[in-house]
Amino acid sequence: MFVSDHGSRITHLPVTRYRARVKTVTAFIALGSNLDDPAAHVARGIDDLGSVPRTVVKRVSSLYRSAPVGFRDQPDFINAVAQVATRLGPRPLLEALLEIERRHGRMRGVPNGPRTLDLDLVLYGDLVLHEPGLTVPHPRMHERAFVIVPLAEIAPHRLVPGRGRVSRLLAQIDAGGVTRLAGV
Ligand code: ADP
Ligand code: MG
Repeated sequence: MFVSDHGSRITHLPVTRYRARVKTVTAFIALGSNLDDPAAHVARGIDDLGSVPRTVVKRVSSLYRSAPVGFRDQPDFINAVAQVATRLGPRPLLEALLEIERRHGRMRGVPNGPRTLDLDLVLYGDLVLHEPGLTVPHPRMHERAFVIVPLAEIAPHRLVPGRGRVSRLLAQIDAGGVTRLAGV
């Protein structure tokens, strides 16, 4: 009697406490594709975000078309940004994003080169993190119109740690190469 009572306490209590301690964090994920029906890859990528464990998609921007940056001799990109509520830590969340990229057949070739689907963790709450393989906020987000324009559509007032509000970043960049797709 004593043993089973004791046993149930040690099996149940820690789980309850663990769940209570995992905070829900608002994160933003930028999606981009310029190969094999890019709009379909981005749309499916957003669906895939919905099946990431402990993660719920809260808002999704329109789809945007953007001219390639850096390596210019490649097709235009389709981009979007999704807002999620997640109870995954930043590292497991990034792993889930890279797994979705692999499922879409992503091969890593030329930097900034063509890709079937790119998923970047642009913001994770107000976290600032510099680790091998993971930097948050994404180090180039503030200069990328194809991230800032869709992000400003769904979260203009969001603070980017160390950089100010999204709306201010939008005012500082040249957004000319990014156009919203009609009817999406
Ligand atoms: P980019 O998105 O800048 O064009 P890649 O998609 O090829 O480049 O990313 C290369 C690596 O960048 C990934 O393997 C990942 O480990 C790393 N990385 C660092 N920080 C982040 C982040 N915030 N989001 C996504 N990837 C990141
Ligand atoms: Mg990436």
